[in-house]
Amino acid sequence: MRLFRVSRISIAVAFLLFLTGSLKFSGIAAQNEPAAAQESVQSLQVMANDEIAAGNIAGHHVHLHPLRSRADFRQRYEDPEIRQGNRQNGSSEIETGSGSTSSALSTVPGVPAPGFYPADLSNPTHGTVLTSVQSNNVYVNCAASCWGTPTDFLARLAVSNFIHLTDEYAGITGNNRYTVGTATSINDTTLPKGLTSNNILQLVHTAARAHGSGYDHVYHIFLRSGVDVCTSANVCYSPDNTSTFVFCAYHGSVNFQDIGHVLYSVEPYQNVRGCSVAQPSPNGALVDSTSSTLSHELIETITDPDGDAWFAQSSLVEYGAEIGDICENPFGKYGAFAISGKSYAIQTEYSNKYHSCATTP
Ligand SMILES: [Zn+2]
Repeated sequence: MRLFRVSRISIAVAFLLFLTGSLKFSGIAAQNEPAAAQESVQSLQVMANDEIAAGNIAGHHVHLHPLRSRADFRQRYEDPEIRQGNRQNGSSEIETGSGSTSSALSTVPGVPAPGFYPADLSNPTHGTVLTSVQSNNVYVNCAASCWGTPTDFLARLAVSNFIHLTDEYAGITGNNRYTVGTATSINDTTLPKGLTSNNILQLVHTAARAHGSGYDHVYHIFLRSGVDVCTSANVCYSPDNTSTFVFCAYHGSVNFQDIGHVLYSVEPYQNVRGCSVAQPSPNGALVDSTSSTLSHELIETITDPDGDAWFAQSSLVEYGAEIGDICENPFGKYGAFAISGKSYAIQTEYSNKYHSCATTP
């Protein structure tokens, strides 16, 4: 009887020890690793209604991520033809300007009076900023792996220290505000090799009618290697045609007549000269280049979704640059830093707090 009791106690103790051990283990895992959930991907087709909707838009705004070698094109982050279209539609969005580069600093540099920090971002008209949003990836004519590991990166970014650089602009400090949701797969053999802005809006509408419009979602449209995209005749991502190759990616917003306001980004294949991250990098050129541009566009969508919130407007030199533009390195050379326990070589983001590019809030 006594023997039985002892063994019962020792079994209970052993079980408790086991439980404590596994709790500790899962606690450590939760700190460093986001849930490695299997990505949920919904297959959709572009329908006639999506084509019609892409032709019935208002207030279309885009913010280009200029190609590094096109210094002249840094004079504008917006396609002039889209700007012209907005003017005709009664919108007054006009942005010109240039960005510059700088590297991350850990101390706040002083400036003599009446000096100022020309790159500091401001939002004098209180344009909309996103205090939370869900990223929905849209894979066009290729599986997610064609772009590396975009969902894993977004899941890590969501629970990272790095994403808290947006706190000072969003005016909020809570964790896990910028999550990643269901992805969309669109296989469409009728799409041309060079996509137009209208093609992009059809893809955006297809995903948004399934997953939701408004400021709760941002649709990242991934274009596979070899696919070009132009926002107007000579304003393109076109590595195969250097005369029109002026941007690497862009983010934008649009009002569809049927489903309303939708936020999106266009993520062409980044492992090309002028857009890629310098090698060697921790995860190789494909993963780090995709991740660098994806974080640039997502964080700019958070801080300036409609092009009327946080951007540099204190000096002509920096005018029009958003949080990510200022911190692009002209050679794609980025130091590696940890995003929720995994090292990436990606660009930094601008902090008004440090008056510099930073990796931590
Ligand atoms: Zn940008």
